[in-house]
Amino acid sequence: MSVSRVVVVGAGLAGLQTVVALRSQGYAGSLTLVGAEDAAPYDRPPLSKALLAGLTDSTALEADWSALETDLRLSTTVTSVGDGVVTTDRGDLPFDGLVLATGAEPRRLAGAGSALTLRTRADALRLRTALRPGVRLVIVGAGWIGAEVATAAVAAGARVTVVEALDTPLATALPVEVGGRTASWWAGADLRLGARVAAVEPDAVHLAGGERVAADVVLLGIGARPTTVPGVEVTASGAVAVDEQLRTSRPGVLAVGDCAAWTSTRYGTRMHVEHWDSALRAPAVAAANLLGGAQVWDPVPYFWSEQWGRMVQYAGHHPAGDRLVWREDAERWAAFWLAGDRLVAALTVDRPRDLVQARHLMERDATVDAALLADPSVAVRSAAS
Ligand SMILES: Cc1cc2nc3c(=O)[nH]c(=O)nc-3n(C[C@H](O)[C@H](O)[C@H](O)COP(=O)(O)OP(=O)(O)OC[C@H]3O[C@@H](n4cnc5c(N)ncnc54)[C@H](O)[C@@H]3O)c2cc1C
Repeated sequence: MSVSRVVVVGAGLAGLQTVVALRSQGYAGSLTLVGAEDAAPYDRPPLSKALLAGLTDSTALEADWSALETDLRLSTTVTSVGDGVVTTDRGDLPFDGLVLATGAEPRRLAGAGSALTLRTRADALRLRTALRPGVRLVIVGAGWIGAEVATAAVAAGARVTVVEALDTPLATALPVEVGGRTASWWAGADLRLGARVAAVEPDAVHLAGGERVAADVVLLGIGARPTTVPGVEVTASGAVAVDEQLRTSRPGVLAVGDCAAWTSTRYGTRMHVEHWDSALRAPAVAAANLLGGAQVWDPVPYFWSEQWGRMVQYAGHHPAGDRLVWREDAERWAAFWLAGDRLVAALTVDRPRDLVQARHLMERDATVDAALLADPSVAVRSAAS
Protein backbone atom coordinates (compact mmCIF):
# COMPACT_ATOMS: atom_id res chain seq x y z
CA MET A 1 0.00 0.00 0.00
CA SER A 2 1.41 3.42 -0.87
CA VAL A 3 1.18 6.15 1.75
CA SER A 4 0.21 9.78 1.25
CA ARG A 5 -0.46 11.06 4.77
CA VAL A 6 2.40 10.44 7.18
CA VAL A 7 2.58 11.55 10.80
CA VAL A 8 5.80 11.36 12.83
CA VAL A 9 5.42 11.55 16.62
CA GLY A 10 8.33 13.01 18.58
CA ALA A 11 10.40 15.94 17.35
CA GLY A 12 13.80 14.78 18.59
CA LEU A 13 16.72 13.45 16.56
CA ALA A 14 14.89 10.29 15.42
CA GLY A 15 11.75 12.22 14.46
CA LEU A 16 13.71 14.77 12.43
CA GLN A 17 15.78 12.07 10.76
CA THR A 18 12.59 10.25 9.80
CA VAL A 19 11.21 13.36 8.11
CA VAL A 20 14.52 13.96 6.33
CA ALA A 21 14.73 10.33 5.20
CA LEU A 22 11.15 10.25 3.90
CA ARG A 23 11.74 13.32 1.75
CA SER A 24 15.18 12.21 0.55
CA GLN A 25 13.70 8.83 -0.41
CA GLY A 26 11.14 10.58 -2.62
CA TYR A 27 8.05 10.69 -0.43
CA ALA A 28 5.93 13.59 -1.76
CA GLY A 29 2.77 13.28 0.32
CA SER A 30 1.72 15.24 3.37
CA LEU A 31 4.05 15.09 6.36
CA THR A 32 3.38 16.20 9.93
CA LEU A 33 5.94 16.16 12.75
CA VAL A 34 4.38 16.39 16.21
CA GLY A 35 6.51 17.29 19.23
CA ALA A 36 5.54 17.68 22.88
CA GLU A 37 8.35 20.17 23.58
CA ASP A 38 8.12 23.81 22.56
CA ALA A 39 11.47 23.72 20.74
CA ALA A 40 12.34 22.56 17.24
CA PRO A 41 14.47 19.39 17.23
CA TYR A 42 17.75 19.72 19.11
CA ASP A 43 20.63 17.45 20.00
CA ARG A 44 20.85 15.94 23.49
CA PRO A 45 24.45 14.68 23.92
CA PRO A 46 25.86 18.23 24.26
CA LEU A 47 23.40 18.94 27.09
CA SER A 48 25.60 17.07 29.57
CA LYS A 49 28.84 18.18 27.91
CA ALA A 50 29.37 21.47 26.02
CA LEU A 51 26.14 23.13 27.13
CA LEU A 52 26.61 22.24 30.79
CA ALA A 53 30.21 23.42 30.58
CA GLY A 54 29.00 26.79 29.26
CA LEU A 55 30.66 26.32 25.86
CA THR A 56 27.39 26.66 23.95
CA ASP A 57 23.78 27.66 24.52
CA SER A 58 22.18 26.12 21.47
CA THR A 59 22.19 22.51 20.36
CA ALA A 60 19.55 22.95 17.65
CA LEU A 61 19.69 20.39 14.85
CA GLU A 62 19.99 21.88 11.39
CA ALA A 63 16.94 21.45 9.18
CA ASP A 64 15.67 23.20 6.06
CA TRP A 65 12.00 23.22 7.06
CA SER A 66 10.72 24.76 3.84
CA ALA A 67 12.55 22.16 1.73
CA LEU A 68 11.20 19.43 4.02
CA GLU A 69 7.63 20.68 3.45
CA THR A 70 6.71 19.48 6.90
CA ASP A 71 3.92 20.67 9.13
CA LEU A 72 5.87 21.02 12.41
CA ARG A 73 3.48 21.02 15.35
CA LEU A 74 5.31 21.84 18.57
CA SER A 75 3.86 21.88 22.11
CA THR A 76 1.52 19.12 20.97
CA THR A 77 1.31 15.74 22.69
CA VAL A 78 -0.02 12.60 21.07
CA THR A 79 -2.14 10.78 23.62
CA SER A 80 -3.11 7.61 21.73
CA VAL A 81 -2.78 5.77 18.45
CA GLY A 82 -5.85 4.25 16.79
CA ASP A 83 -6.63 2.79 13.38
CA GLY A 84 -5.59 5.52 10.95
CA VAL A 85 -5.77 8.31 13.49
CA VAL A 86 -3.67 9.69 16.34
CA THR A 87 -5.29 11.67 19.11
CA THR A 88 -3.42 14.73 20.36
CA ASP A 89 -4.15 17.27 23.04
CA ARG A 90 -4.94 19.63 20.15
CA GLY A 91 -7.22 17.42 18.10
CA ASP A 92 -7.01 14.31 15.93
CA LEU A 93 -4.60 13.69 13.05
CA PRO A 94 -5.48 11.10 10.41
CA PHE A 95 -2.64 9.06 8.91
CA ASP A 96 -1.95 6.19 6.59
CA GLY A 97 1.67 5.91 7.77
CA LEU A 98 2.92 6.65 11.29
CA VAL A 99 6.36 6.64 12.87
CA LEU A 100 6.74 6.81 16.64
CA ALA A 101 9.94 8.55 17.77
CA THR A 102 8.91 9.45 21.30
CA GLY A 103 12.28 8.88 22.95
CA ALA A 104 12.65 8.34 26.67
CA GLU A 105 12.25 10.19 29.92
CA PRO A 106 14.30 10.15 33.12
CA ARG A 107 13.40 7.73 35.87
CA ARG A 108 12.49 9.39 39.14
CA LEU A 109 12.52 8.20 42.75
CA ALA A 110 9.32 8.19 44.76
CA GLY A 111 9.16 11.26 46.97
CA ALA A 112 12.05 13.02 45.19
CA GLY A 113 9.90 15.68 43.56
CA SER A 114 12.40 18.46 44.31
CA ALA A 115 15.32 16.70 42.60
CA LEU A 116 16.46 17.69 39.10
CA THR A 117 16.78 15.36 36.14
CA LEU A 118 18.55 15.93 32.82
CA ARG A 119 16.81 15.20 29.55
CA THR A 120 15.80 18.50 27.96
CA ARG A 121 17.58 21.73 27.11
CA ALA A 122 15.55 23.45 29.86
CA ASP A 123 16.79 20.83 32.35
CA ALA A 124 20.39 21.47 31.29
CA LEU A 125 20.10 25.25 31.55
CA ARG A 126 18.52 24.95 35.01
CA LEU A 127 21.32 22.67 36.17
CA ARG A 128 24.00 24.90 34.66
CA THR A 129 22.64 27.92 36.53
CA ALA A 130 22.84 25.93 39.78
CA LEU A 131 26.46 24.84 39.29
CA ARG A 132 28.16 27.72 41.09
CA PRO A 133 31.52 27.37 42.85
CA GLY A 134 31.06 25.80 46.28
CA VAL A 135 27.51 24.59 45.66
CA ARG A 136 26.86 21.14 47.14
CA LEU A 137 25.62 18.89 44.35
CA VAL A 138 24.52 15.35 45.16
CA ILE A 139 24.12 13.11 42.14
CA VAL A 140 22.15 9.91 42.60
CA GLY A 141 23.60 7.33 40.20
CA ALA A 142 27.12 6.85 38.84
CA GLY A 143 25.99 6.00 35.32
CA TRP A 144 26.71 7.82 32.06
CA ILE A 145 24.71 10.94 32.95
CA GLY A 146 26.10 10.97 36.50
CA ALA A 147 29.66 10.75 35.19
CA GLU A 148 29.24 13.53 32.63
CA VAL A 149 27.42 15.88 35.01
CA ALA A 150 29.98 15.21 37.76
CA THR A 151 32.75 16.06 35.28
CA ALA A 152 31.16 19.41 34.41
CA ALA A 153 30.19 20.19 38.01
CA VAL A 154 33.68 19.56 39.39
CA ALA A 155 35.10 21.78 36.64
CA ALA A 156 32.61 24.49 37.65
CA GLY A 157 33.88 24.36 41.23
CA ALA A 158 30.90 22.59 42.74
CA ARG A 159 31.36 20.19 45.68
CA VAL A 160 30.11 16.95 44.19
CA THR A 161 28.98 13.79 45.98
CA VAL A 162 27.86 10.84 43.90
CA VAL A 163 25.74 8.17 45.54
CA GLU A 164 25.63 4.83 43.73
CA ALA A 165 23.78 1.76 45.01
CA LEU A 166 25.95 -0.69 43.07
CA ASP A 167 29.62 -1.43 43.68
CA THR A 168 31.18 0.18 40.59
CA PRO A 169 30.50 3.18 38.35
CA LEU A 170 28.61 2.47 35.12
CA ALA A 171 27.45 -0.79 36.70
CA THR A 172 24.16 -1.11 34.85
CA ALA A 173 26.04 -0.82 31.53
CA LEU A 174 29.32 -2.61 32.19
CA PRO A 175 30.45 -5.63 34.21
CA VAL A 176 32.24 -4.89 37.51
CA GLU A 177 35.74 -5.67 36.24
CA VAL A 178 35.36 -3.03 33.51
CA GLY A 179 33.26 -0.40 35.33
CA GLY A 180 35.51 -0.79 38.38
CA ARG A 181 38.50 0.42 36.37
CA THR A 182 36.81 3.79 35.95
CA ALA A 183 36.36 4.43 39.69
CA SER A 184 39.76 6.16 39.99
CA TRP A 185 38.65 8.76 37.42
CA TRP A 186 36.15 10.20 39.92
CA ALA A 187 38.84 11.55 42.25
CA GLY A 188 37.46 15.11 42.02
CA ALA A 189 34.14 13.98 43.46
CA ASP A 190 33.17 12.13 46.62
CA LEU A 191 32.08 8.84 45.07
CA ARG A 192 30.04 6.66 47.45
CA LEU A 193 29.69 3.17 46.01
CA GLY A 194 27.31 0.57 47.48
CA ALA A 195 25.31 3.43 48.98
CA ARG A 196 21.53 3.09 48.80
CA VAL A 197 19.32 6.15 48.91
CA ALA A 198 16.56 5.98 51.53
CA ALA A 199 15.00 9.38 50.88
CA VAL A 200 15.60 12.58 48.94
CA GLU A 201 14.69 15.93 50.46
CA PRO A 202 15.20 19.41 48.99
CA ASP A 203 18.32 19.95 51.15
CA ALA A 204 19.67 16.42 51.69
CA VAL A 205 19.92 12.86 50.50
CA HIS A 206 19.44 10.26 53.23
CA LEU A 207 21.31 6.98 52.81
CA ALA A 208 19.97 3.59 53.88
CA GLY A 209 22.70 3.34 56.56
CA GLY A 210 21.31 6.47 58.24
CA GLU A 211 23.80 9.03 56.91
CA ARG A 212 22.49 12.42 55.80
CA VAL A 213 24.36 14.00 52.86
CA ALA A 214 23.63 17.74 52.77
CA ALA A 215 22.77 19.12 49.34
CA ASP A 216 21.99 22.44 47.71
CA VAL A 217 21.06 20.62 44.51
CA VAL A 218 20.14 16.97 43.93
CA LEU A 219 20.29 15.43 40.47
CA LEU A 220 18.81 12.02 39.70
CA GLY A 221 20.87 10.12 37.15
CA ILE A 222 19.24 6.73 37.50
CA GLY A 223 18.44 5.99 33.89
CA ALA A 224 15.57 6.59 31.53
CA ARG A 225 12.48 4.70 30.53
CA PRO A 226 11.01 4.65 27.05
CA THR A 227 8.16 7.07 26.37
CA THR A 228 5.29 5.29 24.69
CA VAL A 229 1.83 6.12 23.48
CA PRO A 230 -1.18 3.85 24.15
CA GLY A 231 -2.24 1.85 21.11
CA VAL A 232 0.88 -0.18 20.27
CA GLU A 233 2.35 -3.27 21.90
CA VAL A 234 5.18 -2.69 24.37
CA THR A 235 7.86 -5.02 25.75
CA ALA A 236 8.14 -6.07 29.40
CA SER A 237 10.57 -3.18 29.91
CA GLY A 238 8.08 -0.71 28.44
CA ALA A 239 9.63 0.00 25.01
CA VAL A 240 7.62 -0.07 21.79
CA ALA A 241 8.02 -3.61 20.43
CA VAL A 242 9.14 -3.61 16.79
CA ASP A 243 10.26 -6.38 14.46
CA GLU A 244 13.50 -6.42 12.44
CA GLN A 245 11.90 -4.00 9.97
CA LEU A 246 10.96 -1.60 12.80
CA ARG A 247 7.25 -2.34 12.42
CA THR A 248 5.02 -2.24 15.52
CA SER A 249 2.07 -4.53 16.25
CA ARG A 250 -0.21 -2.06 14.44
CA PRO A 251 -0.18 -2.09 10.61
CA GLY A 252 1.36 1.03 9.08
CA VAL A 253 2.97 2.10 12.37
CA LEU A 254 6.74 1.92 12.85
CA ALA A 255 8.98 3.07 15.71
CA VAL A 256 12.59 4.30 15.96
CA GLY A 257 15.09 5.70 18.44
CA ASP A 258 15.07 5.48 22.23
CA CYS A 259 11.41 4.42 22.43
CA ALA A 260 11.80 1.27 20.33
CA ALA A 261 13.12 -2.25 21.05
CA TRP A 262 13.85 -4.23 17.90
CA THR A 263 14.25 -7.91 17.15
CA SER A 264 17.91 -8.59 16.40
CA THR A 265 18.93 -11.59 14.35
CA ARG A 266 22.58 -10.70 14.94
CA TYR A 267 22.27 -11.13 18.72
CA GLY A 268 19.29 -13.52 18.79
CA THR A 269 17.42 -11.28 21.21
CA ARG A 270 15.32 -8.17 21.43
CA MET A 271 17.55 -5.10 21.64
CA HIS A 272 16.77 -1.79 23.28
CA VAL A 273 19.44 0.90 23.33
CA GLU A 274 19.26 4.60 24.09
CA HIS A 275 22.05 5.67 21.77
CA TRP A 276 22.34 8.72 19.55
CA ASP A 277 23.70 6.60 16.67
CA SER A 278 20.54 4.46 16.54
CA ALA A 279 18.31 7.54 16.58
CA LEU A 280 20.40 8.90 13.71
CA ARG A 281 20.45 5.82 11.47
CA ALA A 282 17.33 3.72 12.14
CA PRO A 283 14.99 6.34 10.61
CA ALA A 284 16.33 5.73 7.08
CA VAL A 285 15.32 2.07 7.44
CA ALA A 286 11.91 2.98 8.90
CA ALA A 287 11.27 5.47 6.09
CA ALA A 288 12.17 2.92 3.41
CA ASN A 289 9.86 0.34 4.98
CA LEU A 290 7.01 2.81 5.38
CA LEU A 291 7.35 3.48 1.65
CA GLY A 292 7.00 -0.21 0.80
CA GLY A 293 10.52 -1.54 1.41
CA ALA A 294 11.61 -4.54 3.46
CA GLN A 295 14.92 -3.35 4.93
CA VAL A 296 16.27 -4.96 8.09
CA TRP A 297 17.57 -2.92 11.04
CA ASP A 298 20.20 -5.02 12.81
CA PRO A 299 23.16 -2.80 13.66
CA VAL A 300 26.19 -3.23 15.85
CA PRO A 301 25.09 -0.62 18.42
CA TYR A 302 27.46 2.24 19.18
CA PHE A 303 27.63 4.69 22.06
CA TRP A 304 30.13 7.22 23.38
CA SER A 305 30.59 9.22 26.56
CA GLU A 306 32.94 12.08 27.38
CA GLN A 307 33.86 12.01 31.05
CA TRP A 308 36.77 13.06 33.24
CA GLY A 309 38.73 14.26 30.20
CA ARG A 310 38.37 10.91 28.45
CA MET A 311 36.56 9.67 25.37
CA VAL A 312 34.85 6.41 26.26
CA GLN A 313 33.33 4.45 23.37
CA TYR A 314 31.41 1.23 23.23
CA ALA A 315 30.23 -0.91 20.34
CA GLY A 316 28.48 -4.26 20.21
CA HIS A 317 26.57 -6.23 22.82
CA HIS A 318 28.76 -7.77 25.51
CA PRO A 319 26.17 -10.11 27.07
CA ALA A 320 26.69 -12.12 23.85
CA GLY A 321 30.35 -12.68 24.85
CA ASP A 322 31.94 -15.32 27.05
CA ARG A 323 35.51 -14.05 27.34
CA LEU A 324 37.07 -10.68 28.17
CA VAL A 325 40.37 -9.58 26.58
CA TRP A 326 42.23 -6.47 27.79
CA ARG A 327 44.37 -4.21 25.63
CA GLU A 328 46.60 -2.24 27.97
CA ASP A 329 48.42 0.98 27.21
CA ALA A 330 48.57 2.91 30.50
CA GLU A 331 45.55 5.25 30.71
CA ARG A 332 44.47 4.39 27.17
CA TRP A 333 43.03 0.91 27.47
CA ALA A 334 40.37 -1.21 25.85
CA ALA A 335 38.28 -4.23 26.72
CA PHE A 336 37.05 -6.70 24.12
CA TRP A 337 34.38 -9.35 24.55
CA LEU A 338 34.67 -12.52 22.50
CA ALA A 339 32.12 -15.30 21.93
CA GLY A 340 34.36 -18.21 21.09
CA ASP A 341 36.73 -16.50 18.64
CA ARG A 342 34.21 -13.91 17.38
CA LEU A 343 34.47 -10.31 18.54
CA VAL A 344 31.06 -9.21 19.94
CA ALA A 345 31.76 -6.01 21.89
CA ALA A 346 34.45 -3.45 22.60
CA LEU A 347 34.93 -0.65 25.10
CA THR A 348 37.75 1.77 24.42
CA VAL A 349 39.18 4.64 26.46
CA ASP A 350 40.85 7.34 24.32
CA ARG A 351 41.37 4.81 21.53
CA PRO A 352 38.91 5.94 18.82
CA ARG A 353 40.74 4.17 16.00
CA ASP A 354 40.53 0.86 17.87
CA LEU A 355 36.81 1.36 18.30
CA VAL A 356 36.17 2.05 14.62
CA GLN A 357 38.19 -0.98 13.57
CA ALA A 358 36.56 -3.22 16.18
CA ARG A 359 33.11 -2.17 15.03
CA HIS A 360 33.98 -3.06 11.44
CA LEU A 361 35.15 -6.50 12.58
CA MET A 362 31.87 -7.00 14.43
CA GLU A 363 29.84 -5.90 11.41
CA ARG A 364 31.71 -8.55 9.39
CA ASP A 365 31.17 -11.09 12.17
CA ALA A 366 34.93 -11.66 12.00
CA THR A 367 36.86 -14.17 14.05
CA VAL A 368 39.89 -12.73 15.85
CA ASP A 369 43.19 -13.75 17.39
CA ALA A 370 42.86 -12.76 21.07
CA ALA A 371 46.63 -12.39 21.57
CA LEU A 372 46.86 -9.86 18.72
CA LEU A 373 43.83 -8.00 20.04
CA ALA A 374 45.54 -7.69 23.43
CA ASP A 375 48.67 -6.17 21.89
CA PRO A 376 48.34 -2.35 21.62
CA SER A 377 51.14 -2.22 19.05
CA VAL A 378 49.03 -4.28 16.60
CA ALA A 379 46.15 -2.57 14.76
CA VAL A 380 42.80 -4.02 15.85
CA ARG A 381 41.87 -4.77 12.24
CA SER A 382 44.99 -6.93 11.98
CA ALA A 383 43.66 -9.18 14.76
CA ALA A 384 41.13 -10.65 12.30
CA SER A 385 42.05 -14.27 11.67
C1 LIG B 1 21.95 14.58 28.58
C2 LIG B 1 22.07 13.49 27.56
C3 LIG B 1 23.33 13.15 27.07
C4 LIG B 1 23.46 12.13 26.13
N1 LIG B 1 24.70 11.80 25.69
C5 LIG B 1 24.83 10.80 24.80
C6 LIG B 1 26.13 10.42 24.33
O1 LIG B 1 27.14 10.98 24.73
N2 LIG B 1 26.22 9.40 23.45
C7 LIG B 1 25.11 8.74 22.97
O2 LIG B 1 25.25 7.82 22.15
N3 LIG B 1 23.86 9.08 23.39
C8 LIG B 1 23.71 10.08 24.29
N4 LIG B 1 22.45 10.43 24.73
C9 LIG B 1 21.29 9.69 24.20
C10 LIG B 1 20.77 10.33 22.91
O3 LIG B 1 20.67 11.70 23.07
C11 LIG B 1 19.43 9.70 22.59
O4 LIG B 1 19.68 8.36 22.25
C12 LIG B 1 18.70 10.41 21.47
O5 LIG B 1 18.39 11.73 21.84
C13 LIG B 1 17.39 9.67 21.17
O6 LIG B 1 16.67 10.40 20.22
P1 LIG B 1 15.11 10.16 20.06
O7 LIG B 1 14.70 11.09 18.96
O8 LIG B 1 14.82 8.71 19.97
O9 LIG B 1 14.46 10.62 21.45
P2 LIG B 1 14.42 12.04 22.15
O10 LIG B 1 15.66 12.79 21.85
O11 LIG B 1 14.07 11.78 23.57
O12 LIG B 1 13.21 12.80 21.43
C14 LIG B 1 11.88 12.36 21.61
C15 LIG B 1 10.96 13.56 21.53
O13 LIG B 1 9.61 13.07 21.50
C16 LIG B 1 8.81 13.91 22.29
N5 LIG B 1 7.62 13.15 22.69
C17 LIG B 1 7.54 12.14 23.60
N6 LIG B 1 6.28 11.70 23.71
C18 LIG B 1 5.54 12.44 22.86
C19 LIG B 1 4.18 12.44 22.53
N7 LIG B 1 3.32 11.58 23.08
N8 LIG B 1 3.72 13.36 21.63
C20 LIG B 1 4.60 14.22 21.05
N9 LIG B 1 5.90 14.27 21.32
C21 LIG B 1 6.38 13.36 22.21
C22 LIG B 1 9.71 14.27 23.45
O14 LIG B 1 9.24 15.42 24.11
C23 LIG B 1 11.04 14.48 22.74
O15 LIG B 1 11.20 15.80 22.33
C24 LIG B 1 22.30 11.44 25.67
C25 LIG B 1 21.03 11.78 26.18
C26 LIG B 1 20.92 12.80 27.11
C27 LIG B 1 19.55 13.13 27.64
